[in-house]
Amino acid sequence: MEETNLNSYQTLACRKCGRWVDNVGETAHTVICSYCVQLLVGFPEEKTVKVSSGRPVGWHFMNEFVDKKGNVFHKGVEQPNLKGTLPPTKISKPKVKTKRRTKEQILIDRHNEKKQALKKAIKKQKDFLNHNFGD
Ligand SMILES: [Zn+2]
Repeated sequence: MEETNLNSYQTLACRKCGRWVDNVGETAHTVICSYCVQLLVGFPEEKTVKVSSGRPVGWHFMNEFVDKKGNVFHKGVEQPNLKGTLPPTKISKPKVKTKRRTKEQILIDRHNEKKQALKKAIKKQKDFLNHNFGD
């Protein structure tokens, strides 16, 4: 046991992994070390996992959207006094074109996308230069 300023603290072994934990209150009989607590609580990034709101993509751009609970939104702004007055907006899943692209087509598309991006970048740079040096 290590020396601590306070004699009322003790060192105990974590009851999960056996790691020594210092500065445990003297009344404690078991202790869980910070590592195991972390494991129990879960790592912070797990908390940021997106929870599906059940709302469609772009719902906050819709003139009017009513969620399942009857909350009414006008362009994404909640309208509390309209709550429950309207039927929930039916979420129609966007019809995805199921035309399967071949691997070759995917590569061609990707190539074209890159080309477009490059064109844009070049134009941007030209605009930038024109703007700076005039005509
Ligand atoms: Zn532990």
